[in-house]
Amino acid sequence: MSIIKLHDKYFKSYISEEQIQEAINSLVKQVYNDCKEETPIFLGILNGCFMFVADFVRQYNGDCEVSFVKLASYEGTNSTGKIKQLVGVNEDLEGRTVVILEDIIDTGNTLQEIYNIFKDKKLKKLKIATLFFKPDVFKKALHIDYIGISIPDKFIVGYGLDYDGLGRNFADIYQLTSKPTMTNIVLFGPPGAGKGTQATFLKEKYGLVHISTGDVFRDNIKNETELGILARTFMDGGDLVPDDVTIKMLKTEIEKNPDANGFIFDGFPRTESQAKALDQYLLEKGEAISGMVALEVAEDLLVQRILNRGKTSGRPDDQNEAKIRNRFNEYKTKTAVLKEYYQNQNKYFGVNGVGDINEITKRLSDVFDKL
Ligand code: AMP
Repeated sequence: MSIIKLHDKYFKSYISEEQIQEAINSLVKQVYNDCKEETPIFLGILNGCFMFVADFVRQYNGDCEVSFVKLASYEGTNSTGKIKQLVGVNEDLEGRTVVILEDIIDTGNTLQEIYNIFKDKKLKKLKIATLFFKPDVFKKALHIDYIGISIPDKFIVGYGLDYDGLGRNFADIYQLTSKPTMTNIVLFGPPGAGKGTQATFLKEKYGLVHISTGDVFRDNIKNETELGILARTFMDGGDLVPDDVTIKMLKTEIEKNPDANGFIFDGFPRTESQAKALDQYLLEKGEAISGMVALEVAEDLLVQRILNRGKTSGRPDDQNEAKIRNRFNEYKTKTAVLKEYYQNQNKYFGVNGVGDINEITKRLSDVFDKL
Protein backbone atom coordinates (compact mmCIF):
# COMPACT_ATOMS: atom_id res chain seq x y z
CA MET A 1 0.00 0.00 0.00
CA SER A 2 1.68 3.12 -1.10
CA ILE A 3 1.87 6.20 -3.30
CA ILE A 4 3.85 5.94 -6.54
CA LYS A 5 4.93 8.55 -9.07
CA LEU A 6 4.60 8.06 -12.82
CA HIS A 7 5.94 10.90 -14.97
CA ASP A 8 4.61 14.02 -13.21
CA LYS A 9 1.66 12.44 -11.39
CA TYR A 10 1.06 10.57 -8.15
CA PHE A 11 -1.07 7.46 -7.73
CA LYS A 12 -2.20 5.68 -4.57
CA SER A 13 -2.99 1.99 -4.04
CA TYR A 14 -6.62 1.41 -4.81
CA ILE A 15 -7.62 -2.14 -5.80
CA SER A 16 -5.47 -5.08 -4.73
CA GLU A 17 -4.34 -8.01 -6.83
CA GLU A 18 -6.59 -10.28 -4.71
CA GLN A 19 -9.68 -8.13 -5.33
CA ILE A 20 -8.95 -8.15 -9.06
CA GLN A 21 -8.59 -11.93 -9.14
CA GLU A 22 -11.86 -12.32 -7.22
CA ALA A 23 -13.67 -10.13 -9.74
CA ILE A 24 -12.21 -12.12 -12.65
CA ASN A 25 -13.22 -15.36 -11.00
CA SER A 26 -16.80 -14.16 -10.82
CA LEU A 27 -16.75 -12.95 -14.45
CA VAL A 28 -15.40 -16.32 -15.63
CA LYS A 29 -18.20 -18.17 -13.83
CA GLN A 30 -20.90 -15.99 -15.38
CA VAL A 31 -19.47 -16.21 -18.89
CA TYR A 32 -18.94 -19.96 -18.62
CA ASN A 33 -22.52 -20.40 -17.51
CA ASP A 34 -23.77 -18.61 -20.63
CA CYS A 35 -21.27 -20.07 -23.13
CA LYS A 36 -20.54 -23.62 -22.00
CA GLU A 37 -22.52 -25.20 -24.86
CA GLU A 38 -20.30 -23.58 -27.50
CA THR A 39 -16.74 -22.49 -28.25
CA PRO A 40 -16.67 -18.73 -27.71
CA ILE A 41 -14.02 -16.44 -29.14
CA PHE A 42 -12.63 -14.19 -26.44
CA LEU A 43 -11.58 -10.96 -28.05
CA GLY A 44 -9.26 -8.72 -26.08
CA ILE A 45 -9.06 -4.99 -26.74
CA LEU A 46 -5.35 -4.12 -26.63
CA ASN A 47 -3.21 -2.78 -25.06
CA GLY A 48 -4.73 -2.50 -21.60
CA CYS A 49 -6.48 -5.86 -21.58
CA PHE A 50 -3.47 -8.15 -21.89
CA MET A 51 -3.25 -9.04 -18.19
CA PHE A 52 -7.00 -9.38 -17.83
CA VAL A 53 -7.31 -11.68 -20.86
CA ALA A 54 -4.36 -13.80 -19.70
CA ASP A 55 -5.87 -14.27 -16.23
CA PHE A 56 -9.40 -14.71 -17.57
CA VAL A 57 -8.61 -17.44 -20.10
CA ARG A 58 -6.37 -19.27 -17.64
CA GLN A 59 -9.35 -19.62 -15.33
CA TYR A 60 -11.79 -20.55 -18.11
CA ASN A 61 -12.19 -24.31 -18.23
CA GLY A 62 -14.33 -24.81 -21.36
CA ASP A 63 -13.14 -24.79 -24.99
CA CYS A 64 -12.44 -21.30 -26.24
CA GLU A 65 -10.44 -19.31 -28.77
CA VAL A 66 -8.55 -16.09 -28.07
CA SER A 67 -7.86 -13.14 -30.34
CA PHE A 68 -7.10 -9.43 -30.05
CA VAL A 69 -7.95 -6.11 -31.66
CA LYS A 70 -6.17 -2.89 -31.01
CA LEU A 71 -8.05 0.34 -30.55
CA ALA A 72 -6.19 3.22 -28.93
CA SER A 73 -8.43 5.96 -27.58
CA TYR A 74 -6.41 7.58 -24.80
CA GLU A 75 -3.98 10.43 -24.65
CA GLY A 76 -2.76 11.15 -21.13
CA THR A 77 -5.50 11.05 -18.54
CA ASN A 78 -8.29 12.36 -20.75
CA SER A 79 -10.31 10.29 -23.10
CA THR A 80 -10.02 12.03 -26.47
CA GLY A 81 -12.97 10.12 -27.78
CA LYS A 82 -11.03 9.52 -31.00
CA ILE A 83 -10.09 6.05 -32.12
CA LYS A 84 -6.62 6.31 -33.52
CA GLN A 85 -5.70 2.82 -34.58
CA LEU A 86 -7.37 -0.47 -35.33
CA VAL A 87 -5.71 -3.79 -35.93
CA GLY A 88 -8.65 -5.96 -36.92
CA VAL A 89 -9.65 -9.58 -36.47
CA ASN A 90 -8.86 -11.74 -39.45
CA GLU A 91 -10.87 -14.86 -38.52
CA ASP A 92 -14.23 -15.58 -40.13
CA LEU A 93 -16.62 -14.84 -37.28
CA GLU A 94 -19.88 -15.66 -39.03
CA GLY A 95 -22.13 -17.71 -36.77
CA ARG A 96 -19.70 -17.49 -33.83
CA THR A 97 -20.22 -16.26 -30.30
CA VAL A 98 -17.77 -13.46 -29.56
CA VAL A 99 -17.11 -12.23 -26.02
CA ILE A 100 -15.29 -8.90 -25.95
CA LEU A 101 -12.91 -8.63 -22.99
CA GLU A 102 -12.35 -4.99 -22.08
CA ASP A 103 -10.06 -3.82 -19.29
CA ILE A 104 -12.12 -0.70 -18.64
CA ILE A 105 -15.24 0.96 -20.03
CA ASP A 106 -15.74 4.62 -19.23
CA THR A 107 -17.41 6.86 -21.83
CA GLY A 108 -18.27 3.87 -24.00
CA ASN A 109 -16.74 5.40 -27.16
CA THR A 110 -14.46 2.41 -27.71
CA LEU A 111 -17.32 0.06 -27.08
CA GLN A 112 -19.45 1.90 -29.66
CA GLU A 113 -16.66 1.49 -32.19
CA ILE A 114 -16.53 -2.22 -31.48
CA TYR A 115 -20.27 -2.58 -31.97
CA ASN A 116 -19.95 -0.78 -35.30
CA ILE A 117 -17.18 -3.10 -36.42
CA PHE A 118 -19.07 -6.26 -35.50
CA LYS A 119 -22.58 -5.38 -36.57
CA ASP A 120 -21.98 -6.55 -40.17
CA LYS A 121 -20.10 -9.70 -39.30
CA LYS A 122 -23.16 -11.93 -38.85
CA LEU A 123 -22.16 -13.15 -35.40
CA LYS A 124 -24.33 -15.60 -33.54
CA LYS A 125 -23.93 -13.56 -30.36
CA LEU A 126 -21.86 -10.61 -29.23
CA LYS A 127 -21.27 -10.26 -25.50
CA ILE A 128 -19.28 -7.67 -23.61
CA ALA A 129 -17.31 -8.31 -20.42
CA THR A 130 -15.37 -5.55 -18.72
CA LEU A 131 -13.11 -5.76 -15.71
CA PHE A 132 -13.67 -2.14 -14.67
CA PHE A 133 -16.67 0.08 -15.36
CA LYS A 134 -17.24 3.78 -14.68
CA PRO A 135 -21.04 4.14 -14.41
CA ASP A 136 -20.84 7.92 -13.84
CA VAL A 137 -19.37 8.66 -17.26
CA PHE A 138 -20.83 5.90 -19.42
CA LYS A 139 -22.95 7.73 -21.99
CA LYS A 140 -24.10 5.06 -24.45
CA ALA A 141 -27.28 3.06 -24.66
CA LEU A 142 -25.26 -0.11 -25.23
CA HIS A 143 -25.68 -3.19 -23.09
CA ILE A 144 -22.75 -4.49 -21.04
CA ASP A 145 -23.28 -8.15 -20.20
CA TYR A 146 -20.65 -8.70 -17.51
CA ILE A 147 -19.12 -6.14 -15.15
CA GLY A 148 -16.21 -6.93 -12.81
CA ILE A 149 -15.80 -3.86 -10.57
CA SER A 150 -17.65 -0.52 -10.84
CA ILE A 151 -15.47 2.44 -9.93
CA PRO A 152 -15.90 6.23 -9.67
CA ASP A 153 -14.62 8.49 -12.45
CA LYS A 154 -11.00 8.75 -11.35
CA PHE A 155 -8.05 7.91 -13.53
CA ILE A 156 -6.48 4.53 -12.72
CA VAL A 157 -3.29 2.71 -13.71
CA GLY A 158 -1.85 -0.77 -13.19
CA TYR A 159 -2.85 -4.27 -14.16
CA GLY A 160 -2.36 -3.46 -17.85
CA LEU A 161 -3.62 0.14 -17.69
CA ASP A 162 -1.13 2.94 -18.28
CA TYR A 163 -0.53 6.61 -17.80
CA ASP A 164 1.38 7.77 -20.87
CA GLY A 165 2.97 4.37 -21.30
CA LEU A 166 3.89 3.69 -17.67
CA GLY A 167 2.25 1.61 -14.96
CA ARG A 168 1.01 -1.36 -16.98
CA ASN A 169 3.28 -3.77 -15.11
CA PHE A 170 1.80 -3.30 -11.61
CA ALA A 171 -0.22 -6.20 -10.22
CA ASP A 172 -2.49 -3.81 -8.28
CA ILE A 173 -4.60 -0.89 -9.46
CA TYR A 174 -3.55 2.63 -8.42
CA GLN A 175 -5.73 5.74 -8.49
CA LEU A 176 -4.69 9.31 -9.36
CA THR A 177 -4.07 11.37 -6.23
CA SER A 178 -2.66 14.79 -5.36
CA LYS A 179 1.03 15.33 -4.75
CA PRO A 180 2.09 14.36 -1.23
CA THR A 181 3.17 17.44 0.70
CA MET A 182 5.39 15.82 3.33
CA THR A 183 8.91 14.39 3.28
CA ASN A 184 8.91 11.27 5.41
CA ILE A 185 12.15 9.44 5.92
CA VAL A 186 12.83 6.17 7.70
CA LEU A 187 16.29 6.36 9.21
CA PHE A 188 17.38 2.76 9.33
CA GLY A 189 20.23 0.66 10.63
CA PRO A 190 21.18 -1.86 13.30
CA PRO A 191 21.25 -0.90 17.01
CA GLY A 192 24.06 1.55 17.72
CA ALA A 193 24.49 2.59 14.06
CA GLY A 194 24.10 6.26 15.03
CA LYS A 195 20.53 6.91 13.96
CA GLY A 196 19.70 9.04 17.01
CA THR A 197 22.86 11.14 16.72
CA GLN A 198 22.35 11.78 13.03
CA ALA A 199 18.61 12.45 13.37
CA THR A 200 19.41 15.32 15.76
CA PHE A 201 21.41 17.09 13.03
CA LEU A 202 19.11 16.19 10.17
CA LYS A 203 15.84 17.28 11.79
CA GLU A 204 17.26 20.81 12.22
CA LYS A 205 18.72 20.96 8.75
CA TYR A 206 15.54 19.81 6.99
CA GLY A 207 12.84 21.12 9.35
CA LEU A 208 11.45 17.67 10.03
CA VAL A 209 9.98 16.20 13.20
CA HIS A 210 12.11 13.43 14.70
CA ILE A 211 10.23 10.50 16.21
CA SER A 212 12.40 7.96 17.99
CA THR A 213 10.20 5.13 19.26
CA GLY A 214 13.00 4.06 21.64
CA ASP A 215 13.06 7.59 23.14
CA VAL A 216 9.27 7.67 23.46
CA PHE A 217 9.30 4.33 25.25
CA ARG A 218 12.12 5.50 27.55
CA ASP A 219 10.16 8.70 28.41
CA ASN A 220 7.17 6.56 29.28
CA ILE A 221 9.30 4.33 31.48
CA LYS A 222 10.75 7.37 33.24
CA ASN A 223 7.25 8.76 33.85
CA GLU A 224 5.98 5.34 34.89
CA THR A 225 3.03 5.43 32.52
CA GLU A 226 1.02 2.32 31.73
CA LEU A 227 2.74 2.12 28.34
CA GLY A 228 6.14 2.49 30.01
CA ILE A 229 5.46 -0.34 32.43
CA LEU A 230 4.40 -2.58 29.58
CA ALA A 231 7.32 -1.64 27.29
CA ARG A 232 9.94 -2.05 30.00
CA THR A 233 9.51 -5.81 30.26
CA PHE A 234 10.44 -6.15 26.58
CA MET A 235 13.06 -3.41 26.32
CA ASP A 236 15.14 -4.48 29.29
CA GLY A 237 15.74 -7.87 27.72
CA GLY A 238 16.45 -6.39 24.29
CA ASP A 239 13.20 -7.78 22.82
CA LEU A 240 10.91 -5.81 20.54
CA VAL A 241 7.78 -4.32 22.05
CA PRO A 242 4.68 -5.97 20.45
CA ASP A 243 3.58 -4.42 17.14
CA ASP A 244 0.06 -3.38 18.18
CA VAL A 245 1.41 -1.35 21.12
CA THR A 246 4.18 0.26 19.06
CA ILE A 247 2.01 1.10 16.07
CA LYS A 248 -0.62 2.73 18.26
CA MET A 249 2.03 4.76 20.01
CA LEU A 250 3.58 5.88 16.73
CA LYS A 251 0.24 7.12 15.39
CA THR A 252 -0.25 9.13 18.57
CA GLU A 253 3.19 10.72 18.10
CA ILE A 254 2.42 11.62 14.47
CA GLU A 255 -0.91 13.13 15.46
CA LYS A 256 0.80 15.38 18.01
CA ASN A 257 2.38 17.19 15.02
CA PRO A 258 -0.44 18.05 12.61
CA ASP A 259 1.55 20.84 10.92
CA ALA A 260 4.77 18.91 10.36
CA ASN A 261 6.56 19.20 6.98
CA GLY A 262 7.43 15.59 7.48
CA PHE A 263 9.03 13.12 9.86
CA ILE A 264 12.28 11.32 10.46
CA PHE A 265 11.29 7.92 11.80
CA ASP A 266 14.07 6.50 13.94
CA GLY A 267 13.64 2.98 15.27
CA PHE A 268 10.35 2.55 13.42
CA PRO A 269 9.32 0.49 11.51
CA ARG A 270 11.14 -2.51 12.92
CA THR A 271 8.94 -5.29 11.52
CA GLU A 272 7.20 -5.81 8.22
CA SER A 273 3.81 -5.44 9.86
CA GLN A 274 4.88 -2.05 11.29
CA ALA A 275 6.04 -0.98 7.80
CA LYS A 276 2.72 -1.99 6.28
CA ALA A 277 0.77 -0.22 9.02
CA LEU A 278 2.81 2.95 8.46
CA ASP A 279 2.27 2.84 4.68
CA GLN A 280 -1.45 2.35 5.17
CA TYR A 281 -1.69 5.13 7.75
CA LEU A 282 0.20 7.62 5.57
CA LEU A 283 -1.81 6.57 2.52
CA GLU A 284 -5.03 7.51 4.30
CA LYS A 285 -3.56 11.00 4.69
CA GLY A 286 -2.48 11.11 1.00
CA GLU A 287 1.15 10.89 2.11
CA ALA A 288 3.91 8.28 1.77
CA ILE A 289 7.40 7.31 2.87
CA SER A 290 9.81 9.25 0.66
CA GLY A 291 12.68 6.89 1.33
CA MET A 292 14.48 4.62 3.74
CA VAL A 293 17.98 5.91 4.43
CA ALA A 294 20.11 3.21 6.02
CA LEU A 295 23.33 3.51 8.00
CA GLU A 296 25.34 0.43 7.08
CA VAL A 297 27.75 -0.69 9.83
CA ALA A 298 29.11 -4.17 10.67
CA GLU A 299 27.80 -5.80 13.88
CA ASP A 300 31.18 -6.34 15.56
CA LEU A 301 31.98 -2.64 15.48
CA LEU A 302 28.60 -1.89 16.97
CA VAL A 303 28.64 -4.15 20.03
CA GLN A 304 31.74 -2.32 21.27
CA ARG A 305 30.19 1.05 20.40
CA ILE A 306 27.02 0.23 22.37
CA LEU A 307 28.99 -1.04 25.40
CA ASN A 308 30.91 2.26 25.39
CA ARG A 309 27.65 4.21 25.11
CA GLY A 310 26.27 2.17 28.03
CA LYS A 311 28.87 3.72 30.32
CA THR A 312 27.10 7.08 30.01
CA SER A 313 23.64 6.46 28.48
CA GLY A 314 22.21 4.81 31.59
CA ARG A 315 20.29 2.45 29.31
CA PRO A 316 20.00 -1.03 30.87
CA ASP A 317 19.89 -2.56 27.40
CA ASP A 318 23.27 -0.94 26.53
CA GLN A 319 25.20 -2.43 29.42
CA ASN A 320 25.08 -6.17 28.99
CA GLU A 321 26.54 -7.99 26.01
CA ALA A 322 23.91 -10.77 26.03
CA LYS A 323 21.11 -8.17 25.83
CA ILE A 324 22.92 -6.33 23.06
CA ARG A 325 23.37 -9.59 21.13
CA ASN A 326 19.64 -10.24 21.57
CA ARG A 327 18.87 -6.82 20.07
CA PHE A 328 20.98 -7.79 17.06
CA ASN A 329 19.17 -11.07 16.87
CA GLU A 330 15.83 -9.23 16.85
CA TYR A 331 17.25 -6.93 14.17
CA LYS A 332 18.41 -9.79 11.97
CA THR A 333 15.28 -11.91 12.29
CA LYS A 334 12.57 -9.21 12.22
CA THR A 335 13.95 -5.87 11.05
CA ALA A 336 16.59 -6.51 8.37
CA VAL A 337 13.87 -7.72 5.93
CA LEU A 338 12.68 -4.13 5.67
CA LYS A 339 15.60 -3.38 3.37
CA GLU A 340 13.94 -5.59 0.79
CA TYR A 341 10.50 -4.15 1.60
CA TYR A 342 11.64 -0.63 0.68
CA GLN A 343 13.90 -1.83 -2.15
CA ASN A 344 10.81 -3.31 -3.77
CA GLN A 345 9.33 0.20 -3.76
CA ASN A 346 12.60 1.70 -5.09
CA LYS A 347 12.95 3.57 -1.80
CA TYR A 348 16.09 2.10 -0.21
CA PHE A 349 19.26 4.22 0.06
CA GLY A 350 22.27 2.71 1.83
CA VAL A 351 24.94 4.96 3.33
CA ASN A 352 28.31 3.92 4.79
CA GLY A 353 27.86 4.50 8.54
CA VAL A 354 31.54 4.10 9.49
CA GLY A 355 33.69 7.21 9.93
CA ASP A 356 33.62 10.71 11.31
CA ILE A 357 30.17 11.90 12.52
CA ASN A 358 30.23 15.02 10.30
CA GLU A 359 31.31 13.01 7.30
CA ILE A 360 28.38 10.62 7.85
CA THR A 361 25.96 13.56 8.22
CA LYS A 362 27.24 14.81 4.86
CA ARG A 363 26.67 11.39 3.26
CA LEU A 364 23.13 11.27 4.68
CA SER A 365 22.42 14.85 3.60
CA ASP A 366 23.31 13.98 0.02
CA VAL A 367 20.50 11.41 0.07
CA PHE A 368 18.07 13.66 1.99
CA ASP A 369 18.62 16.39 -0.62
CA LYS A 370 17.39 14.03 -3.32
CA LEU A 371 14.32 13.04 -1.32
P1 AMP B 1 16.20 2.04 20.28
O1 AMP B 1 16.31 3.22 21.17
O2 AMP B 1 15.65 2.38 18.91
O3 AMP B 1 17.46 1.21 20.19
O4 AMP B 1 15.07 1.09 20.93
C1 AMP B 1 15.26 0.50 22.20
C2 AMP B 1 14.22 -0.57 22.45
O5 AMP B 1 12.92 -0.02 22.37
C3 AMP B 1 14.21 -1.73 21.46
O6 AMP B 1 15.20 -2.71 21.76
C4 AMP B 1 12.80 -2.23 21.66
O7 AMP B 1 12.67 -2.97 22.85
C5 AMP B 1 11.99 -0.95 21.84
N1 AMP B 1 11.55 -0.42 20.52
C6 AMP B 1 11.88 0.75 19.94
N2 AMP B 1 11.30 0.89 18.74
C7 AMP B 1 10.56 -0.23 18.55
C8 AMP B 1 9.74 -0.69 17.50
N3 AMP B 1 9.54 0.03 16.39
N4 AMP B 1 9.13 -1.90 17.65
C9 AMP B 1 9.30 -2.63 18.75
N5 AMP B 1 10.09 -2.27 19.77
C10 AMP B 1 10.72 -1.07 19.68
